[in-house]
Amino acid sequence: MHHKRIQFLVVFLLCLILAGCGTNQPQAVLPQEPDLPQVEQPEPQPEPEQIVEPEITPEPIPEPEPEPEPISIRITAAGDNLLHNTVSFACALPEGGYDFHPVYENIKKIIEGSDIAFINQEVMLTGEASAYPNLAAPTENADALIDAGFNVINLATNHTLDKGVSGLETCLETVHARPFDAVLGAFRTEEESTQLCILEKQGIRFGFLSYTYGLNGYRLPSDKQWKIALIDETKIQNDLAAIRPECDYLIVSMHWGNEYQTTESSYQNELAQLLCDGGADLIIGTHPHVLQPMKWLEREDGHKTLCAYSLGNFVSNQHKRATMLGGILEVELLFEEDGSLKEIASAGVIPTVTHYKKGHYTIYQLTEYTDELAAEHGMQGYETPFNMTYLAELSNKILGENAITWEGEHD
Ligand SMILES: [Zn+2]
Repeated sequence: MHHKRIQFLVVFLLCLILAGCGTNQPQAVLPQEPDLPQVEQPEPQPEPEQIVEPEITPEPIPEPEPEPEPISIRITAAGDNLLHNTVSFACALPEGGYDFHPVYENIKKIIEGSDIAFINQEVMLTGEASAYPNLAAPTENADALIDAGFNVINLATNHTLDKGVSGLETCLETVHARPFDAVLGAFRTEEESTQLCILEKQGIRFGFLSYTYGLNGYRLPSDKQWKIALIDETKIQNDLAAIRPECDYLIVSMHWGNEYQTTESSYQNELAQLLCDGGADLIIGTHPHVLQPMKWLEREDGHKTLCAYSLGNFVSNQHKRATMLGGILEVELLFEEDGSLKEIASAGVIPTVTHYKKGHYTIYQLTEYTDELAAEHGMQGYETPFNMTYLAELSNKILGENAITWEGEHD
């Protein structure tokens, strides 16, 4: 009996122990439970991430996005307004006076609307119609230039002193009495000759310099050397240094080069590089009476200068057929609001033809000229063949792909 009690106790105790183990198992599961809430904790974390989504509301921020639109500037430049007395006679009115509007009526559409429209006034406007070699033309020509849209007029040419200082004075009075925005290369007073020529268009500051190689043998009085800007490398470098910091875009008019040569001279190349090194952005070349190439020059630091070596004659009564082909330089630029150049949108030369026949002078864009018009041209009495084939080949030879066409689609 006693042994059976002991056996029972042992079995009972074993059962207790086993039961205890059993209870331990669920205890071991419990510690896992606290892990579960940990998994729940990271869940609220993605919530704040969702709060980031509402930050996407800055999407409507595109309101400030409209970045300031670049400022678009259009520059045009024409070559020698070479008013032989025959051109003036053709513009004489029966009742007296002159009307030069017919000369520019076909190309007005190209010039007008430019922010800057440059013309090289080869011949001084003194009020008389004077023959070569001492050229002069009626003052009414300035009215036609204004009406065509020109606003920058250059007076530094080899003909500036054809009628002496008094003739130049009359011309200066004439052009300053008209609404030109800038008169280049010749001055009324010594003080005026030292002032920087800066023209502001749409907030962009355009600086201008202008020089001529000479005055056809005439000389300025010793006390009036300042009256016309002559090419002098030291003076040019000083002028460049003075004006460059004061403008956003620098334009230099150069009356230079060899007459009737359709390529630029080494001297033009040297001067152009000097201007490029001094910070010029655009060089407008005139004088050779024929077109010369348009090229890009580059400074060591990468600064680039566009140089139209010669724009040829805009109008004339010359008798060499190559002098009938001229060009209007057209440059379209985009500027940032701070005045820095953002982009050169386009640059090229629009070839033009001086058309003349008895008593009538006018200028056409080459692409609007025809063999029919050429057949009537006064040139038929001088140099032939003079036709579209000749003109197109000459334009292509000199300008190549820099020849552009005006299509009236510009802003
Ligand atoms: Zn000239």
